[in-house]
Order: sequence, then C-alpha cells, then structure tokens
Amino acid sequence: MQFSKIIGQKKMIKRFINTVNTGRISHAQLLHGSEGAGKLELAIAYAQYVSCTNKSETDSCGTCPSCNKYEKLIHPDLHFVYPVVRTKKFNKPISDNFSNEWRKFILEHKKHRLDEWLDVVGSEGGQAGIFAHESSEIIRKLNLKTFEAEYKIMIIWLPEKMNASSANKLLKMIEEPPMKTLFLLISDYPEQIINTIRSRSQFVKIPKIDNESLSKHIAETYQIETTELNRITKLANGNYFKALDVLEESDNEKYNFKLFIELMRLSYSAKIIDLTKWVDEISTLGREQQKSFLKYTLKMFRENFILNNSPTEKEKLNQLTVDEENFSLKFSTFIHQNNIFDIYKEINKAHLHIERNGMDKIIFLDLTLKLVKLLRRKAA
Ligand SMILES: [Zn+2]
Repeated sequence: MQFSKIIGQKKMIKRFINTVNTGRISHAQLLHGSEGAGKLELAIAYAQYVSCTNKSETDSCGTCPSCNKYEKLIHPDLHFVYPVVRTKKFNKPISDNFSNEWRKFILEHKKHRLDEWLDVVGSEGGQAGIFAHESSEIIRKLNLKTFEAEYKIMIIWLPEKMNASSANKLLKMIEEPPMKTLFLLISDYPEQIINTIRSRSQFVKIPKIDNESLSKHIAETYQIETTELNRITKLANGNYFKALDVLEESDNEKYNFKLFIELMRLSYSAKIIDLTKWVDEISTLGREQQKSFLKYTLKMFRENFILNNSPTEKEKLNQLTVDEENFSLKFSTFIHQNNIFDIYKEINKAHLHIERNGMDKIIFLDLTLKLVKLLRRKAA
C-alpha cells in the first residue's frame, strides 16, 4: 500500500517520510486516534516506504521487489499481530494461523474494524485476544535475521487486546529491540493498553480525515449526486468506515424504495398476478432485509399521510430524498385518515410475524391483498 492510496492525512504522511529521510525512526510508535482515520493503512504504507529500495521524497515506488511483496502483504520482514479467536482447528491460536484471512481482510475489505475482522475469521462468539503464546512467537521472529530488508517491521493491530501475561513477555522486546526493528502499534483505545507497553511507545496521534479529502475520495469512487455526497461527508465526520456505512445504508434505502413503488402501483391497480411475483422477490430476501423493508414502508406511509393532510408541514419532511418526494407528491393523495391506521396495523402485524419466523410468502401475500383493499378505500 503506497501513501498515495491513503485518504487525506497529508501532514502525517510528510511526518512519517521525514522520520525516514532524517534517520530518526522511533523503534516503537503507537498510532492512535478515532476510528476510520486510516491508522492501519498509514502504518502499512509507512512500513512499505521504510523498506522500499527505490523510494522518492513523497512515496514508495510501488514496483521494486520489496514493494511488490508489500502490495500482496507477503514480505518476509513484515509481520502482523492482531486479535484472534480459539477455533476447533486452533486451540492456541496465533496470528499466523489466520494470515490468509488477514491478507484478504486488508486487501479486499475496506472497513477495518474488529467486528468485520471477526466476521472474516468466522469467530463463533469466542473472545478475541492477543494471547501469551503469541508473544513467544513475536520474540522468536524478531530474533531471526532479516531476510531481505534492512528493517524488520512488526505491526500490532489493537494492542489493547493483549492480556497482561502476553504484554509482559513482550515488554523487553519493545524496551530493547534487536537492531533495526520497528514496532508499529495501532490502537483505537490507547488508554486500555497495558501501561508498561504504553509508556515505552512514542504516541503518534492520527487526526480525523479532513472533509475535503474524504468527500473527494467518495466522489471519485462512487457515482452519487452532490447533495448525497455532502450528506455522507457530514455524517461521516472524518471517519471513512462510517462513510461506507452510510453509503451501504443508502443503497439499501434505494432498493427498499424500488420495492415500495412497485408494491404501491401493483396494489392500487390490483394486479394480482404481478403482486404474487413481487411477493416471490421479497421472499428471496433475508429476514433482516424484509424487516428493514417493512420499517421503510412505515416511514413512507407516515410521510405521505403528513404530506396529504397538512401540506403546510411539508418543509418538515426532511426525511425524504428527492426521488421519494417526487413520488410522494402524487401518491400521498391516496393516504388519508380513513386508511392510514389500518395500513399501519397491517404492516406492524407483518413485521411481528416475520420476527417470529412465520412463512414469509404467506405473510407478504396477506399484506399485499390487504393493501389492495386499503389503498382503494375512499378518503371520506
Ligand atoms: Zn519500492
């Protein structure tokens, strides 16, 4: 990973490069700061820069043999330590037991959160940690000669997950590391790291990503309109993972909107055959998604009822996107006090039955038939 792949953080990148060019690389650096600022990615890019044999003033070259291995995270002098879980296969797990999963996690996933990592590992609810036998492994590795690079680099992700016996074993190594050894610790909660480790590390605070860089990155990666882009940037507040959360959420909302429009059109025109096809589609979704759709319909009916009954309140409808509002301007005339309460009742009933693992096809078919009647009910 080159520095050019990092979102924002220009100042920090300069600072890291400077440590290399002035020969002042602290041997234990603790990168901390809020979630989604790119700490882990920065550490990897920094390590790659340190090891690159053809580096420039601004970045690693990306093409030398060292960079080639770094890009695949297979450089023999780059070591990772991260929380792991006990599984059927590994009773005394260490990071290396999961190195394939780890590479996949870093290279293919974008949200580098502990939860996402545990999903990749397939933890069955076991406690994730960095255990004492991991420290023995770290010491063994760092006592080996470097294979190819000048530096041996050990990136420890979430050292706060290290228990006391593990940390104590490692202590001496961090205090008096073998020559040309670099520890990069990446922490979301540095106050939870065992004090002895903390006090021997140089703290490097990574700030939030600036809004301009985050917004630019999202605009270049995803096709979205400006108002949506601004909304995401604002909600993310410098946290890239959060920006991705919001993006996923809005994809989900768009799909729900599509399902909703179809359902309303078919119900109003009472196209029963097409409605059963619609039911078939929604029955292929998971229960969580089905529930999310039902919640979405509640929102849409509520907003449409308000739109129809108190147009003066329209300004308050900030929950609707532009597309939703355009649809609702016409659709809202069908939602009034003679049907809204029964519609609500039916949707809530469907939600409850889905939650209780009822047969989704029957539940949704029942709901659509009720909607056919309710939507055609007269306002007065
Ligand atoms: Zn290189």
